[in-house]
Amino acid sequence: MADIDFEDKGSVLNPLRAWAFLGRKPVTEPLEPRLASLNYRGFHLNDWEKCIGCSTCQKVCDNAAITMVRIPGLPQDPVKGVRNERPAIDYGRCCWCGLCVDICPTGSLSLSREYVHTCTDDQLSSYFVLPDPKGMHGKYYGHGWTKTADSDLVDLVRQPMAELEPQARSANFDEIVAGYDDQQALLEASRCVQCGMCHDACPTHMNAPEYIRAIWEGKVEEAVRWIYETNPFSHVCGRVCTHRCEDACSVGRRGTPIAIRWLKRYAMDAVPHERVKQIAAAGRLTHASGRRVAIVGAGPAGLTAAFDLARKGHGVTVFEALDKPGGMTRWGIPEYRLPYDKLDQDIDVIRSVGVDIRCNVRIGRDITLEQLRSDYDAVLIALGLQTGRSTRVPNSEHPQVRKSVELLRQVTAGEDIGTPRSAVVIGGGNVAMDIARTGPQECLVDAQGRLTGLRTWRVKAIFDEQGRFAPSYDSDDERIHPGEMVVEAIGQASDTSLLGDALTEKLEWRRGRLDVDAGGRTSEPWLWAAGDMVRGPDVVNAVADGHRVAASIHAHIGVPETVR
Ligand SMILES: Cc1cc2nc3c(=O)[nH]c(=O)nc-3n(C[C@H](O)[C@H](O)[C@H](O)COP(=O)(O)OP(=O)(O)OC[C@H]3O[C@@H](n4cnc5c(N)ncnc54)[C@H](O)[C@@H]3O)c2cc1C
Ligand code: SF4
Ligand code: SF4
Repeated sequence: MADIDFEDKGSVLNPLRAWAFLGRKPVTEPLEPRLASLNYRGFHLNDWEKCIGCSTCQKVCDNAAITMVRIPGLPQDPVKGVRNERPAIDYGRCCWCGLCVDICPTGSLSLSREYVHTCTDDQLSSYFVLPDPKGMHGKYYGHGWTKTADSDLVDLVRQPMAELEPQARSANFDEIVAGYDDQQALLEASRCVQCGMCHDACPTHMNAPEYIRAIWEGKVEEAVRWIYETNPFSHVCGRVCTHRCEDACSVGRRGTPIAIRWLKRYAMDAVPHERVKQIAAAGRLTHASGRRVAIVGAGPAGLTAAFDLARKGHGVTVFEALDKPGGMTRWGIPEYRLPYDKLDQDIDVIRSVGVDIRCNVRIGRDITLEQLRSDYDAVLIALGLQTGRSTRVPNSEHPQVRKSVELLRQVTAGEDIGTPRSAVVIGGGNVAMDIARTGPQECLVDAQGRLTGLRTWRVKAIFDEQGRFAPSYDSDDERIHPGEMVVEAIGQASDTSLLGDALTEKLEWRRGRLDVDAGGRTSEPWLWAAGDMVRGPDVVNAVADGHRVAASIHAHIGVPETVR
């Protein structure tokens, strides 16, 4: 190409040069755009079947070219990690960098080989497009830039977690999972795309993206501050939470979800206990409201409610029947999954905001519920499910037929359970438990009165033709399972005898459980109920319930004008 002569002044005759085109043969451009190259970055395509509306594409876009649009007809399910939103692109802002494609956790988003769009002045909104698999004008021109293994910005593989070898577990109750070190935690945190699906799925709406980001930035105290905003059972949930958040994590669509629970555990272990107490106390009202709340049961539900109410300045007393607080997190969950010192640290934080926990006090036996009603402004019962259910098959009353929760309680208390050489366990999952409860088994006892095992019949079908639960058995297919102990692990029930006959009669019940409103209030205005006894089934739901109930009690008992 010739150099440009900036000094050239041109000529007055230049406009006449256009006449030279008169003699040339006319050329007609094809109406169809010419095919673009294979990796072309043209208009977006989005596979709506794969897209989960996570909004990661929107968050990564530095040009703010992407808006998430709610589509009412699409499925919306926070527990499954699905939002009824899809990304819309503003082509006035998009620079076709393709970052949205490279970060999309599901791989639903790509760029096409289509690149032509014109419109009249009254159609300018047509540059704002909700991409689908058909392309900008309903005609598919082929995929252009599509994420590759090299360009994928999502790291699909979780940092491995070290565990005790099986041989090393048999002789002790040492914790099985080792936990992440600093480097592993940082690498794991860096996998998070900050979509927030985990936040929506968690029953407490844990600020997981925020604490993961803080870990990634090396700010562990900030991570703990975020964790404590929604969960005072932070050590516990960092170890045994059922992690519904991870089931919803968008990274889990193609790879392993972020280890949200293990990262919580890392942050909690990284910050000294005394500092955790200071962080948890921040924002606590130091002036007393003058209101008093009694809570029965020092499990996760009762203690979470106590924590919230004490932070709001109310006087809170928790009554616990057993000699240590923690409920099933202490007496049910074994030490090798949840070391007692970690549970004790959570409880110490709860005490440090002013909660008074009185152990060895069984309400209904040592103090009546009526007494609590007259001494306190509100009463919450969070009794959990302490009583093991029985199969009631013949011989199930034998002393060597044990209920699982009672056995675990004895083991935790360090009592001798007369460890048998062999044991048969009945139960293991909801349907299995139901079958075990209705099945025609028999605990076998020999002539000397010793337990020798369990007789079962094979299950032929669980449901009848109408799909109703109606197990049937084949009595010809009988099996004997030898064992010196039979453990019934078929579910638990709540012991509500503290209510007494008159109150039990007066309260409203639904399918065997106390009927409560959204805030956990029973049909008696002074009485609330929370946790496993009304909802269940795990720690994080008990914590969420504790928060709900505390908010309802706080709203009900009010705060005197002088301390507002
Ligand atoms: C073996 C086992 C393993 C489990 N594993 C897990 C797990 O890995 N992850 C998970 O998330 N969840 C797990 N759970 C479930 C979890 O422990 C419970 O969902 C949770 O503890 C329920 O909390 P809560 O406060 O409602 O009741 P609880 O924890 O049961 O606490 C109720 C408390 O009330 C006290 N109480 C009862 N009656 C009275 C009375 N009259 N007076 C005074 N005090 C009273 C009880 O002694 C108890 O301390 C497990 C449960 C069991 C049994
Ligand atoms: S990042 Fe992918 S899955 Fe998430 S909203 Fe955008 S296109 Fe859909
Ligand atoms: S942990 Fe998973 S679900 Fe939560 S913000 Fe990060 S990528 Fe999204």
